[in-house]
Amino acid sequence: MLLEAVEVSKTFRSRRTAAPVHAVQNASLQARPGEFIAIVGESGSGKSTLARILLDLIEPTSGSVQWDGQEISSMDRAEHQAYRRNVQAVLQDPAGSLNPRKRVVQAIGEVIRLHGMARSSADVGRRVAEVLDLVGMTPGRDFMDRFPHELSGGQRQRVLIARAIALDPKIIVADEAVSALDASVKAGVLAIMADLKERLGVGYVFITHDLPVVRKVADHVYVMRHGRIVEHGPKDAIFADPSHPYTQELLAAAPALP
Ligand code: ADP
Ligand code: MG
Repeated sequence: MLLEAVEVSKTFRSRRTAAPVHAVQNASLQARPGEFIAIVGESGSGKSTLARILLDLIEPTSGSVQWDGQEISSMDRAEHQAYRRNVQAVLQDPAGSLNPRKRVVQAIGEVIRLHGMARSSADVGRRVAEVLDLVGMTPGRDFMDRFPHELSGGQRQRVLIARAIALDPKIIVADEAVSALDASVKAGVLAIMADLKERLGVGYVFITHDLPVVRKVADHVYVMRHGRIVEHGPKDAIFADPSHPYTQELLAAAPALP
């Protein structure tokens, strides 16, 4: 299984001046189950736009997204639904991504029902408890009836990961998913994500401006600047010997690892 962006571009019109904004230009990448790829770049470099294109939330101006060689724009309804189950989002701002009026069991249960993964309340409940256990909220049953405000920031982020995992995805696209968390909480959530890669074989497209995080978890790194992917390669190669001046600059500015 392969998720691929093939020479994807996205041009917006500036809301203010109507001038074209080339948010993403000719970007290509490949993501696979069981592999942790990271996209790094400063704010405004086009990372979130590329993520939204991969998630089929917006259409590219040119180029295509392919799943196992099939363009997602040519998928029929059933194929689209399967794609949306296989490629899940964990976005930034866990507070905004969870409805404050819904208990954890509802928040996760509704996507399980929507995708027909389970129907009866008992089966849905079992699955919710199981995925909460998987993200380290143990025992899962103890967290099911909580509201988002009864959880810490790290726990809310884990619930979002659990909700994604509940659909048995092949790839998770995570956009600044841990960027707002304190260092120790961040480390915990990253460890869970790495653990899920090993245990479930899920792959990640992990978007961040946080280089120490990339160094810790990524297998393969893409560096974005001004809408373009300027360099990519295995993490160790990128960190040991960055070839693009922008990557060298990024690495020089990154704080040392603890
Ligand atoms: P990043 O996630 O790397 O910070 P974004 O993908 O959010 O970057 O944004 C890339 C560029 O595209 C920015 O200049 C941003 O202002 C612009 N942009 C993003 N979304 C829109 C939109 N809906 N309309 C107009 N411009 C946009
Ligand atoms: Mg962004």
